Amino acid sequence: MDKTILAKTAGFCFGVDRAIKKLDQAIEEHARPVFTIGPIIHNKNVIERYEHQGVRIIDGAQQLDSGAVAVIRSHGVGKDCYDALEKKGALTVDATCPYVKKVQQIVRRHHEQGYQILIIGDENHPEVIGVNGWCDNQAKIINSKKDVLNLQNYGRICVVAQTTIIEATFQEIIKAIEEKFPEAVVFNTICSATEERQNEAAQIAQTVDMMIVIGDKKSSNTKKLAEICRLYNEKVYQIESAAEIEGAIFSEGDKVGITAGASTPAWIIKEVAEKVWKSKQTFKNSTKKH
Ligand code: SF4
Repeated sequence: MDKTILAKTAGFCFGVDRAIKKLDQAIEEHARPVFTIGPIIHNKNVIERYEHQGVRIIDGAQQLDSGAVAVIRSHGVGKDCYDALEKKGALTVDATCPYVKKVQQIVRRHHEQGYQILIIGDENHPEVIGVNGWCDNQAKIINSKKDVLNLQNYGRICVVAQTTIIEATFQEIIKAIEEKFPEAVVFNTICSATEERQNEAAQIAQTVDMMIVIGDKKSSNTKKLAEICRLYNEKVYQIESAAEIEGAIFSEGDKVGITAGASTPAWIIKEVAEKVWKSKQTFKNSTKKH
């Protein structure tokens, strides 16, 4: 019996899946150049496939050919970018994840009502940069309890979070904010997809002999997933594709767990699962001969 456990939450989250489908649809439907504002996802295999189909990655509307198709990825962009795309006469395909869109709307509404916006998250993350673009880039971006100490009293305060931050970190920072600014309006905008994937990976890692985490080396959510698995299992292999699997790491009876980051496509996960199975068979056959 094959003892491989594939996480149900492995791979694309709802927002990434939706963005990829919108890009595919744009390529199919429009006989004109298709651009994405930033890479559609952090996975070089996927990006290479799209490059072969003629999709070009740009940083902003200034690099766009006029009248081209511009796809906004799941992380979203600031209001300036929409305005610039409109000026360029672009056909904009908005693949911003609806959960991110909700954060942008909260920020816009509260900024218009005179609130100071606080974003809990990574100031360099594209989602945070995009959200800040809905309050004229006036948000204070904080990432730790210590950052709260440096905040002045801005009067009315509205707090949101990057959708992918860890719940415990959010709660710790919120506690510090509420002690300092009891009137602050707080929105827990964390998306449960990341937490569910991490919880399932942690649970599987505890019951298997080794864990394989698939995802681009640069993908921060994949790295985090591997880190979590290492808390429960000494043998954790972070790989980008099936090509990195060596038969020698398996024994026939090994129970192997597999999970994948949010930007890993299903075809790569499938290839890895098949390679694991084949490697185990190879091991089984080679031990029979000797
Ligand atoms: S992690 Fe959540 S918020 Fe981010 S793209 Fe995926 S579904 Fe949307």
